[in-house]
Amino acid sequence: MHTFEFIRPADSAAAIAAAAQSKTAQQGADVRFMGGGTTLIDLMKLNVETPARILDINRLPLNKIEDTPDHGLRIGATVRNSDLAYHPRVQRDYSVLSQAILQGASAQIRNMATVGGNLLQRTRCVYFRDTAMPCNKREPGTGCPAITGHNRTLAILGTSEHCIATNPSDMCIALAALDATVQIQGTKGTRTIAFGDFHLLPGSTPHRETVLEPGDLITHITLPPPSSGSKHLYLKLRDRSSYEFALASAAVVLTISSGKISRARIALGGVGTKPWRSTEAEAALIGKTANDASFRQAAEAALQGARPQSENRFKIELAKRCLTHALRTAAAS
Ligand SMILES: Cc1cc2nc3c(=O)[nH]c(=O)nc-3n(C[C@H](O)[C@H](O)[C@H](O)COP(=O)(O)OP(=O)(O)OC[C@H]3O[C@@H](n4cnc5c(N)ncnc54)[C@H](O)[C@@H]3O)c2cc1C
Ligand code: SF4
Repeated sequence: MHTFEFIRPADSAAAIAAAAQSKTAQQGADVRFMGGGTTLIDLMKLNVETPARILDINRLPLNKIEDTPDHGLRIGATVRNSDLAYHPRVQRDYSVLSQAILQGASAQIRNMATVGGNLLQRTRCVYFRDTAMPCNKREPGTGCPAITGHNRTLAILGTSEHCIATNPSDMCIALAALDATVQIQGTKGTRTIAFGDFHLLPGSTPHRETVLEPGDLITHITLPPPSSGSKHLYLKLRDRSSYEFALASAAVVLTISSGKISRARIALGGVGTKPWRSTEAEAALIGKTANDASFRQAAEAALQGARPQSENRFKIELAKRCLTHALRTAAAS
């Protein structure tokens, strides 16, 4: 691993000022914040990330989970994934989030991983993690060997001719279904971004994965007040039952009144180049009777734009069945 300077900034202002000296906040950043380090250090060992400076943000006062005045929840960026998953309000009011986190990684990794770091975890595409191979995300303009190579685990929604990498997060799928917002503090002050606008589609610039600019520090995630009487479910399908990323997953938040669906929030994991909120599936469900026919119709709507690669056509049907089963199970709960 290359040499780097390790710094513990005294406060957020110092951290932001130091990070603002980086040329980019995207792939190739020469200054990086560090939360749990479970993505960053991993990629540094592979020389995929080579920052000259690492800013350890764990001493900043960003580790609280607090009620907001409107009964939502404000989650600090350095809150550990485990602490979030087991927080009583998350378990009671936002259980899809708790379920999603607990189906990710391992207990040890969840104990280290932070909320901010989870938002910025990187794709598991094998070519991205291998510096002997070309990769448009790692080195823009070098090509995408996954399109003609190993792409079984890669995306079928939101892809481009330049990159088909999957966003691997479980937590982010639940946050997409919960209408979360991301608070960012940067050199020009603070701003709030709707969760769906935080991650970017690859298009012709797959090395740009988020809206973050140099100096931008994620400080909090905010959840709106819970919708009363809603049913929550996160279903994750994968090659083995632990320590594995999703081939397809679904986060479902449903409100059913007198047998009809009055509100639906749906997001899919394992299939999109970003956490995949499906407004098409939501629209297909509103006003419908909560039964298998409606659930399957919503799944068809969610996957309508899917574009499979040579090895991952199976994901279309898998994702449809995943969403249908998640909706059925949530409705029956
Ligand atoms: C073996 C293994 C299995 C895994 N399995 C799963 C799984 O099944 N599901 C899943 O969802 N995840 C899985 N993960 C990924 C894991 O969830 C992430 O590594 C973790 O969430 C990253 O959090 P961190 O705090 O360690 O991030 P770090 O490594 O500290 O940081 C990641 C990135 O975020 C940036 N960053 C961190 N905090 C901030 C901030 N506040 N503001 C701005 N930038 C910031 C860093 O600069 C870095 O670029 C797995 C990881 C491993 C190693
Ligand atoms: S899919 Fe994206 S990350 Fe994977 S090789 Fe292609 S450009 Fe790189």
